[in-house]
Amino acid sequence: MLNLVLFGPPGAGKGTQSEKLIKKYNLVHLSTGDLLRSQIAAGTELGLRAKQLMDQGLLVPDEVVIGMIEYKLRENQEAAGFIFDGFPRTVNQAVALDDLLTQYNTEITTMISLVVEDEELIRRLLKRGETSGRPDDRDEETARRRVRVYNSETMPVADFYEKQGKYLAVDGIGEIESIFTAICQKIEQVSVKTQ
Ligand code: ADP
Repeated sequence: MLNLVLFGPPGAGKGTQSEKLIKKYNLVHLSTGDLLRSQIAAGTELGLRAKQLMDQGLLVPDEVVIGMIEYKLRENQEAAGFIFDGFPRTVNQAVALDDLLTQYNTEITTMISLVVEDEELIRRLLKRGETSGRPDDRDEETARRRVRVYNSETMPVADFYEKQGKYLAVDGIGEIESIFTAICQKIEQVSVKTQ
């Protein structure tokens, strides 16, 4: 199996690159942001509670997102592999993901980290907010809070994978296609090594 964690701050381009990667490697895309937004759209209790936090640029509780991922793994047992996008966002989530994958006799192959500097992220989030309709992209204060939350709560997840020898960084600034090529090169280096 090829199980990728696509890591990076809000606005780094994880969603865009995930779309391309799932096609190329025939993977199942698990984006906790998308899963939460579909709960909001469906008007579920979970969605209503998550929305209040998401709109402010704060994280939803670990057990909520871990539960959603657990469900999706169970539902997709025939998958060739997964891309985890926007998850894990805390070390607690990363530990839970390792445990879940162990239950299916598999593991994370590698983490690909898209590196983009903070000011570029703010620009991208506000630009996306003009068309996405996402409340968390609409104003600068919320965008900045999301980047801050990323730097304090999510960055340690990179160390977690680094310690396992599974951290690979890719420059997230440039053309979508050239970033995609750089990601694929990294993946192919790792898959050759693990074969
Ligand atoms: P982006 O693609 O801009 O990084 P996402 O769509 O991944 O944003 O996430 C949007 C919001 O959903 C986050 O700011 C957070 O409130 C919530 N969220 C998504 N994934 C997680 C997660 N793994 N843990 C906690 N909260 C999450």
